[in-house]
Amino acid sequence: MTQRAQKVKPPQRKGIDYHQAAQLSALRAFSVSFSNASPSSSFRLFAETFLEYVLQIFEADGAYLEFSPPSSSEKIRLTIGSLRDEAAWRKILFPRAKKFPLVHQGPPHPGKKITRQTGWDPKTSSLISTPIRWGNQNFGVLAIGKSGVPSFFSETDLEELALFTHYLALASKKISFKKTREEAIQEFSENLEDGIYVIDRHGRALVVNPKGRALLGIHDKEEAIRGLHDDPVLLNIRTAGGAIPTPHQLPLARALRGETFSSVEYMIRRPGEKSDVHLSLSGGFLYDKKRKIAEGILVAREITEFKQRERRLKTDLAEQKERERVRTTFLSHVSHELKTPLNVIVGYTGLLLEERYGRLPEKAKEALSRTRVNAKELAQMINDLLTLSKLEATKMIVAVEEVDLGALLRDVLKDARSLSAEKPIEFFLKIDRDLPLIKSDPAKLKEIFLNLFSNAVKYTREGSIQVLAKNLPEQRRVRVDVVDTGIGIQEADLAHLFEEFHRVEDPGMTNTPGTGLGLAIVKNMARLLHGSVEVESVYGKGSTFTIFLPYALRKRP
Ligand code: ADP
Repeated sequence: MTQRAQKVKPPQRKGIDYHQAAQLSALRAFSVSFSNASPSSSFRLFAETFLEYVLQIFEADGAYLEFSPPSSSEKIRLTIGSLRDEAAWRKILFPRAKKFPLVHQGPPHPGKKITRQTGWDPKTSSLISTPIRWGNQNFGVLAIGKSGVPSFFSETDLEELALFTHYLALASKKISFKKTREEAIQEFSENLEDGIYVIDRHGRALVVNPKGRALLGIHDKEEAIRGLHDDPVLLNIRTAGGAIPTPHQLPLARALRGETFSSVEYMIRRPGEKSDVHLSLSGGFLYDKKRKIAEGILVAREITEFKQRERRLKTDLAEQKERERVRTTFLSHVSHELKTPLNVIVGYTGLLLEERYGRLPEKAKEALSRTRVNAKELAQMINDLLTLSKLEATKMIVAVEEVDLGALLRDVLKDARSLSAEKPIEFFLKIDRDLPLIKSDPAKLKEIFLNLFSNAVKYTREGSIQVLAKNLPEQRRVRVDVVDTGIGIQEADLAHLFEEFHRVEDPGMTNTPGTGLGLAIVKNMARLLHGSVEVESVYGKGSTFTIFLPYALRKRP
């Protein structure tokens, strides 16, 4: 038994030195093999070195490693030394060994029981294996075996082997950290929707991702970087204001100097294209361990469409503002430059007609009278224009109060009646008994109905003008119909009736004064009072204009 115990734990494998040695060897192997080669090939090298150490330390004859490092797609399979019946081991033992640590004694053969025990016949070949694990994940299996006699493995060996495989997993995990920055950034930026450009401090192009190439229309990585770093001509690069930057002002040059900037606009022209491309660029830099700038990084996003939309909006807005300004200037000009002299004409012709300045011959009186009527009409037209401009600019103030619509219609109709002095026209006003008081703006209602009534008078030679006010309780509104037996309106004209300056061409009515603004005012005012206007007409027979008004005009939100 003493003899056997000695063989189980040889002195060189005991205690702390053993662990330290293993650790040091593994780590040294790790650092040596990772210093220059590419991750996967250096990992293979590392794995080989590692296995050799393991063989030495465990005094094993052969080792088998099956491993898919977590940071590589490559699967590594290595056998070092000799493992008798490896194929059989693989078939019987390894599928289970990937899941938990195993000790196996005796040569493998189908049907042979796999055991897990603390000692066995030294003459028998034996093998231990442990899964290679990181956290909950298994990446493979490591097995070592002894085929010579007399020698065997124990449970302690198994524990120690598990420790080694843990190192292995740890080391392979570090591969990803050991990737060059270039590789890491390249991998990260491959599928990004933004263009990524990375330059090292010596001006070398490190990374240009696919989107980055597409944005610039340049396939060559070096060329793309040059266009953003030191050659303004290559990309025909300009600032948002259109200035051509000096090489010093190019975005990657700025980033390499240690500037950070965000969403700065630049324009470029892709090779072979006819219009500019707008880019929004954000830049920055990365330090190395010594806090020296190691790389400049630029992130680019195309904003051409956005810029175009913005420009369109700006032009629209500018045009609208300009129109508004012209309208306001026009309005004040109209009221001052036109209304003032007209008032003077109306005033003086009035005084002259009253013969305040002496007697006048009849002919002169007639001429003066016509002058006065025309001047008044002109003044009315100007007033209409002003009203309409204010309505359109929605500058008109609405003063809401309770309105007795019946009384209001009666008043206005009285005024309109006076216009029809010589015409054989009868007037009717019919008001529903249950017509409620409504909440609206009486001054505006007067203007609406005065326009409609005076039109009815103007365009009716004889017959009647009826005004009917009806209650529509279900719709919580009222309707007022103005029905005349006038000349009527042709179908083709109906559609344009409410447009500004639209007057129907009717040979029989060429002398009827008017501006073509009245109905436009009616429509706009009705809308202002949350109502509407409709028209029906039979040419030659007469027309009906209908105004709808809500019971109560509520302020719009
Ligand atoms: P106007 O100052 O010419 O009367 P309006 O805007 O008030 O301007 O009316 C536009 C046109 O609609 C008129 O020129 C006229 O031809 C037609 N119109 C308006 N009201 C009537 C009506 N009651 N009967 C027939 N035609 C009408």
